Amino acid sequence: MPETNYIFPPSPVPALPIRGSTALFPIHRIYCVGRNFADHAIEMGHDPDKEPPFFFQKNPDSVVLPGNPFPYPAASRDVHHEVELVVALQSGGTDIPVEQALDCVYGYAVGLDMTRRDLQAEAKKHGRPWEIAKAFEQSAPCGPVHTAAEIGHPGEGTIRLTINGTIRQDGNLNQMIWKVPEMIAYLSRLFTLKPGDLIFAGTPAGVGAVAKGDTMIAHIDGLDEVRFTVA
Ligand code: MN
Repeated sequence: MPETNYIFPPSPVPALPIRGSTALFPIHRIYCVGRNFADHAIEMGHDPDKEPPFFFQKNPDSVVLPGNPFPYPAASRDVHHEVELVVALQSGGTDIPVEQALDCVYGYAVGLDMTRRDLQAEAKKHGRPWEIAKAFEQSAPCGPVHTAAEIGHPGEGTIRLTINGTIRQDGNLNQMIWKVPEMIAYLSRLFTLKPGDLIFAGTPAGVGAVAKGDTMIAHIDGLDEVRFTVA
């Protein structure tokens, strides 16, 4: 096969480490679920019984790998933390039945859907898209992928974010409105899911601002804690 003649070198494939392996998980796309915990929907001024969860995206190269700081982004004075379960897919497709959805899951990680809340509020007010609030550079700090073969499929357990030793978010995965199989099935009716897709599964109540110098520790029962400092 002749070598492809790119006019400049293509960007490297973003990838997450895998716990207990030297192999990497190559990232294809990042999908995020909005308002998947009722108490967070309510704290944002919405009625979870009237408005179902929904999806938005981040860019695959916006992950911050474990061991690196989260750089406070430009253009915002109100950057919020959202601790989330991250679902890592090994296969995909379209119109995936709920009963087969977990077969697509390679593993899980704990991640942070960092949000420029002031820009998001402005976008909501004007009915504009959310990219500048959600899909900025390095907006997705993420821990290593734990294989489902090792940890199973977590359906309940504590999901918590601590900042400088103070608990800010403290929920349970069993509070998710869309469970993991449901979000995969639903998403696969709208997009073709592929190996390497990540799904940030939504955040519990307690979101709030971070400041430079803060240390965020993200915890989900059964997964290694991850720590990111705000630089
Ligand atoms: Mn979120």
